[in-house]
Amino acid sequence: MSNYQTLLMAVDLSEDSHAVAAKAAALRDAYGATLHIIHVIEPLSFAYGGDIPMDFSGIQEEIHQQARTQLTAFGEKYGVTEANRHIVLGRPEVEIHALGEELGVDLVVVGSHGRYGLALLMGSTANGVLHGATCDVLAVRVGS
Ligand code: AMP
Repeated sequence: MSNYQTLLMAVDLSEDSHAVAAKAAALRDAYGATLHIIHVIEPLSFAYGGDIPMDFSGIQEEIHQQARTQLTAFGEKYGVTEANRHIVLGRPEVEIHALGEELGVDLVVVGSHGRYGLALLMGSTANGVLHGATCDVLAVRVGS
């Protein structure tokens, strides 16, 4: 098996993200690879669209600011340089694929909850990332 050279870990900034980050950082160290981190912010307009005639820009900027603060803490804890920390607006699976291709990553690391029943039918980000991925994907079991 060839060594992984460029890794991308996707974090939703929940407590579970530490399990994902710890695995990704261990792989980075084992392979001597470069590690990038992505957090995707879903625009409020995706959820509330034209239903609520409201300007979301202030709240959106606040969400962005909080994400920046949390991602900085994550990056510092797991040794990801500032240039390799990415905050993107959009749908998580779409943006994770897009950044992965842009950076030429050879492994994407995501968290995966053991889902069943309705939740399984509704799908998950890990499934979305796996489908259509052009590189390997590691799904780290998180939560319960
Ligand atoms: P979920 O399927 O939404 O429970 O998320 C499972 C995993 O997908 C998380 O542990 C992250 O690795 C990734 N993920 C979910 N949401 C985001 C997000 N907004 N930005 C980046 N990664 C995410």
